[in-house]
Amino acid sequence: MTGAAGLRVFCVGALICAAVAWGAHAGRTGAEAREGGAQNAAQAGAQRSIAITVDDLPGALPGDDFAYGELKELQKINRGIPAALKAHHAWAIGFVNERKLQVAGERDARAELLQMWLVSGLLLGNHNYAHDDFSNTALQKYEDDLVRGEVVTSALLKAAGQSEKYFRHPYLNTGMTMDAKTAFDAFLKDRGYTIAPVTIEDADYVFNDALGHALEKKDKKMAARAKQDYLEYVDTVFDYAEKESAEMFGRQIPQILLIHDNALNTECLDALLEKLEKRGYKFVSLDAAMADPAYATLDLYVGTGILWMDRWKLALGQKLDLSKGPEPPQWAEQIFEQMRKERQKE
Ligand SMILES: [Zn+2]
Repeated sequence: MTGAAGLRVFCVGALICAAVAWGAHAGRTGAEAREGGAQNAAQAGAQRSIAITVDDLPGALPGDDFAYGELKELQKINRGIPAALKAHHAWAIGFVNERKLQVAGERDARAELLQMWLVSGLLLGNHNYAHDDFSNTALQKYEDDLVRGEVVTSALLKAAGQSEKYFRHPYLNTGMTMDAKTAFDAFLKDRGYTIAPVTIEDADYVFNDALGHALEKKDKKMAARAKQDYLEYVDTVFDYAEKESAEMFGRQIPQILLIHDNALNTECLDALLEKLEKRGYKFVSLDAAMADPAYATLDLYVGTGILWMDRWKLALGQKLDLSKGPEPPQWAEQIFEQMRKERQKE
């Protein structure tokens, strides 16, 4: 998973140093970004656009970011999610943890799960081999695991006439110090990678844990509540992100949504995409979303993972108040925290 409990734990003290350290770095200032934004708004009209990104292929299991999962369950997930995307003509990219392909006797069958994305016209990217957390992984190991994580994926992409281009940091942890961040950014650039930012996440990992817990307890009512509350929460996070976009850029910038390759989305993605269509969104590629001038705004942030809209506040000279964002319902958070705690003990 990319967002975890850690996603909402922040290291604000480090921000100040980061802003000073990056003062002379090349990139757009707030004024330039706003100016570009105004021009773009005139061109784009009222149309909203969004790129869908799906993390933790070939499957994110409840309660555990590192579980290999049962092949049958993974087949269901990787059939269901691309099918929902295809039905809505939604472009998407799936970010892979190749460690989860390494199950004796199932390697080909698991690589086939990735192939299911490519034959559906979707793209694949690198999410680090073992889902390392850059906040507590040495730079050398983090770099090694990036390379180790591209072996199968890049071969599949090559056979499909494509190449691997995007990297997504697990937990959105892009570096705890400016030195580590700068060094890894240079490493990525050398290998031809672009970082895939995230402007909206809908805490699907919290609701997926709640759904998994409900199914384990054979509690149908709770399972239905997890799905219903998830879809309601989607509206809450979009309301928030759209308000932020208007405040920061004076318009609706192309958004980049992060969700996970899990059972919850296998069941809910169709309804989620329908919701986005009703909100006026057109589905676009990461390339297209990131061509918007907003994405040239500097990322001055160091610390544990936060969304790009928050990172950009530093460059735009705005106050960063991380306590303001939406939170999933308490009941689901409690199950999520309990399940994660139990798995850590095992
Ligand atoms: Zn992840």
